[in-house]
Amino acid sequence: MAKEFVKNVTSMQDDFAQWYTDVVTKAELIDYSSVRGSMILRPYGYAIWENIQKQLDKKIKATGHENVYMPLFIPESLLQKEKDHIEGFAPEVAWVTHGGEEKLTERLCVRPTSEVLFAEHFKNIIHSHRDLPKLYNQWSNVVRWEKTTRPFLRTLEFLWQEGHTCHETDEEAHDETVRMLNVYANLCEEFLAIPVVKGQKTEKEKFAGAKYTFTIESLMHDGKALQSGTSHHLGDGFAKAFGIEFTNREGKLQTVQQTSWGFTTRIIGAMIMVHGDDRGLVVPPKIAPTQLMIVPIAQHKEGVLDFAYDLKEKLSQTIRTGIDASDKKPGWKFNEYEMKGIPLRLEVGPRDIEQGQVIVVRRDTGEKETVSLQGLEIHIQHILSDIQSNLFKKAKTHRENQTTTVTSFDEFKAKLSEKGGFMKAMWCGDEACESFIKDETGATSRCIPFEQERLAEKCICCEQEAQHLVYWAKAY
Ligand code: AMP
Repeated sequence: MAKEFVKNVTSMQDDFAQWYTDVVTKAELIDYSSVRGSMILRPYGYAIWENIQKQLDKKIKATGHENVYMPLFIPESLLQKEKDHIEGFAPEVAWVTHGGEEKLTERLCVRPTSEVLFAEHFKNIIHSHRDLPKLYNQWSNVVRWEKTTRPFLRTLEFLWQEGHTCHETDEEAHDETVRMLNVYANLCEEFLAIPVVKGQKTEKEKFAGAKYTFTIESLMHDGKALQSGTSHHLGDGFAKAFGIEFTNREGKLQTVQQTSWGFTTRIIGAMIMVHGDDRGLVVPPKIAPTQLMIVPIAQHKEGVLDFAYDLKEKLSQTIRTGIDASDKKPGWKFNEYEMKGIPLRLEVGPRDIEQGQVIVVRRDTGEKETVSLQGLEIHIQHILSDIQSNLFKKAKTHRENQTTTVTSFDEFKAKLSEKGGFMKAMWCGDEACESFIKDETGATSRCIPFEQERLAEKCICCEQEAQHLVYWAKAY
């Protein structure tokens, strides 16, 4: 028998960053590549992304969007057409300067996002109000030359979808921006079991070139926030720069109103940091590539493997079921699939077969249950759905416990260093206060939540009249 090396991870309490690194590598989600900040998505990591992609693609299509594919390269002159956009992205852009040995006459940027490519194309295909709305989406990779990187959360190259739409009116574009933010929020809450706060980014934090940006913000286990998806109302900034015009219903030339929205592999990092524990990854059933892993016990005994394979075939009709019939010890297998966060483990041995039962163990609570073979499939589906809602509830309770209302700057600083998490505090709307808070505490404004409350009359920072309730936090 091969030597079996049982993996374990650093405890979260001891070193959260090391815990995260251990989980992404030992659960076999990624491997590091030779380029800093670029990761290799291994089969298990990619399968999780594929499931997220499948769900999101369905929702994107159900809201009327069509998939397209744009080129990877953007000529420098094109990127420079919208001034705020290039200003915001310039420090993060990777450039291609040579083709083979030959120097290019114009540098090409590797897309950090594709607004300008879409804008150039929209200009060519939109002429009349009958051509609107244009509702496009692209699944692709993009490159942003990030200074600090971490697997999934911030990588040089990442996978994402980017939606790009054109509308007749400002109001329609606004509605689209909200609609797609809700699609993201629903995906996070329903499928990934990650509760989110929906809101608007401040002027300082909005997307380069947008009129305004909506965001969903989630809270990780260590009390740091993560921007988990963004939806931008672009107004007519790109449309004016590129001349995207149409003949309106009155026969007059008018500029389109645009939106763009993006969701990336970053969300896998959120899933890890929201649900994971000291035994490794915990994957919500709706997203899990394998929902149930069968581990045969005493599999050398006659009939055990046949029985286990039969069971796999039956359950596979409705449940994503795997089986490990390798010659590794059951203890090794238990540890391995706990590390990989597979929601349920099913153990079956000679005695169980005799008694017409199996043992089912939940990854989220560790609960072990003996279940009769009769009605097994339905019972497993119930447990999976219970795990799904339990993960969401647990994450929501954690977020609520880590959200603090503060009404003075001293309290802000004290609570932030004491327990981290979200600080809810009033703000005057002045960028100087926002920057001061960041410099003094390390916390950034996460969003102006759609659900506003009036916690106090004055700004937390400057004693001016408060304009908005803001969620603040240290963030990834
Ligand atoms: P943006 O186009 O800048 O609004 O980005 C869209 C989304 O991509 C953001 O809301 C983040 O969740 C995510 N994101 C931004 N930068 C990175 C990165 N370097 N790696 C992974 N995801 C990212």
